[in-house]
Amino acid sequence: MFKWFGKVNFTPYTKVSDFGQHLRDGRLMGSRCKRCGATSFPPRADCHACMSGDFEFVEMSGKGTVNTYTKIVAAPTGFDELAPYIIGVVDLAEGGRALAWFGETIPEQDIEVGMSVQVVPRMFEELEDIKVYYSLERPGTTWSKAVSST
Ligand SMILES: [Zn+2]
Repeated sequence: MFKWFGKVNFTPYTKVSDFGQHLRDGRLMGSRCKRCGATSFPPRADCHACMSGDFEFVEMSGKGTVNTYTKIVAAPTGFDELAPYIIGVVDLAEGGRALAWFGETIPEQDIEVGMSVQVVPRMFEELEDIKVYYSLERPGTTWSKAVSST
């Protein structure tokens, strides 16, 4: 089911492959270790704290703070047609970090380290390779299946 997410990745073959399916349903999921309770985002099948392989999916609020960001002008293969674009690393409220594109609710000149953002699941209807992803939006922005076309 992970063919929905990303250009090239091996997640379809891992224990966290349901992540893409959850995104498609508008849920941003992390993982919680059933042994020690540590929460991870992106979800991990094996706990970073105690190495246990026993985990469950847990829905994240998507609330976070921009840790750093950069503008990609020379994009990696497969993303060339999307450049230039801005990506950020966000520290999530529940723990873990998300790397994502800034969405259209946050103009480039407003982006700054330390600002509050909402990580929002999205669907690309118009791109064949990527079906689901998530973007960084103004707090309060909610998921909607129909990505607003400009
Ligand atoms: Zn653990």
